[in-house]
This record gives sequence, structure tokens and C-alpha cells, in this order.
Amino acid sequence: MVMRKKMQRLLDEIESEYRFTRGMTGKAMLGPELRQAISNTPRDKFVPLASIDSAFDNHPLSIGYGQTISQPYIVAIMTDLLELKADDVVLEIGTGSGYQAAILSQLCRQVYTIEYVAELADQARARFERLGYDNIVTMSGNGFDGLPEHAPYDGIIVTAAATHIPGPLIEQLKAGGRMIIPVGRQYSHQELKLVIKNQQGDIEVKDILSVVFVPFQGERNE
Ligand code: SAH
Repeated sequence: MVMRKKMQRLLDEIESEYRFTRGMTGKAMLGPELRQAISNTPRDKFVPLASIDSAFDNHPLSIGYGQTISQPYIVAIMTDLLELKADDVVLEIGTGSGYQAAILSQLCRQVYTIEYVAELADQARARFERLGYDNIVTMSGNGFDGLPEHAPYDGIIVTAAATHIPGPLIEQLKAGGRMIIPVGRQYSHQELKLVIKNQQGDIEVKDILSVVFVPFQGERNE
């Protein structure tokens, strides 16, 4: 199949899952900007060579170091729930392949992304440079602490399963900002949670979907 056809099939599969989950997510279909961002992002350049034939399947794939590139539908719905505006600044915890950050970078002004595995951070940084994503800053470290020097953030996205919502990330969310994070037991199902901070700084947490993510490393007790 030529790539355009594979991409079309992927978009169709994402849309069909959108329809299936609309009761839980409140999202019935891909908006034009998110659709465009997915179409423009070559997922085959974010997966290992051995998985290249599956790069446009709506599945997570292994990227080494025990980590995965998320399922495209999950990337889409998590991005969508952040409701980004063009001028927004976003913090991502769990760079992995960089695919999620690449999608985000097309829908906001600046993305900061933190990856625990130094080798993956280096690979993602090189990949962003090669592919021309110039509004993503990649760091290696423990994302539990967030990145206070650039806070507050309009959006925060966590792509590893945490057992609780890290306090520093709640603090670094702007009033009016949104955070999306899988919370629950590790090596099991988690609940994808949407955290909304209102203008008074109060927090509202909504359960969206049952999901499966790789574990959040280096969680601290609070
Ligand atoms: N967003 C990624 C998905 C990566 S899987 C993508 O689009 O490919 C989750 C990633 O989170 C893994 O690479 C893992 O190493 C990383 N991770 C786990 N705990 C972390 C932490 N405390 N800080 C930063 N990254 C973390």
C-alpha cells in the first residue's frame, strides 16, 4: 500500500474509534487541525526499522528500553482533550519516540518534553532536528518534578501510568489550563484523567477512559 493510503486508513480507524468512545470523551470526530497534524506526521520515522511495516497501524509499538510509542487513537484523543490554542505552551512527561510531541508541536507555540531514559531523549532530540520540528525542547530527567523554569503551562500531558497525579505538575498548570494523565495500578488498566484548573486555581478531575500505559518511573511520595 502506498503511504497515502495507509495514512487514510489510519485516519479512518481513529475516527471510527472516536465514534465508538464519544459517550466517554465527548468528542465525536477529529477536528480539521488535529486531522491535519496527524496526516503531516510520518509515524514511520518514529518507530524502529523492524516495525516499519506496522507504522501506520492503530496500535502501540515497541521502541526499545521496554517502552512504547502510543496508539495513534490515544495520541489523538489525549491531544484533543487538551483543547490547545495556537499560542499555548505545553509540557509533556514521557517523550518516548517523540511522536506525541511532534503532533502537539503543530497545534501550539512551544512544547517542552521530558524523558526518563536518556538514550530515548537523545534519539528523540535528533529526530526532531532531522524532521524540522523546531518548537520542541527535549530534556532527559524525572518528569515527576515537572519543569518549573518554564511554568505555568497551558497544557500538561503525561504519557506514562502514574499511581497519583504528581503535585508539582498540578502546581505548574496555569489557571484555565488542562492536564491529561493515566492514573492507576501499574502493569494493569489505568483511568485516563482530565484535570482542569479553573481561574480561581481550583482543580476538577474527570475520568475519561480506561487505558493501558507503561509505568511512570521514579514517582516520589507526597
Ligand atoms: N509519548 C510517547 C510515549 C512514550 S511511552 C510517544 O509518543 O512515543 C512513555 C515514556 O515515558 C517512556 O519512554 C518512559 O521512559 C517515559 N517515562 C516514564 N516515567 C517517566 C518520568 N518520571 N519522567 C519522564 N519520562 C518518563
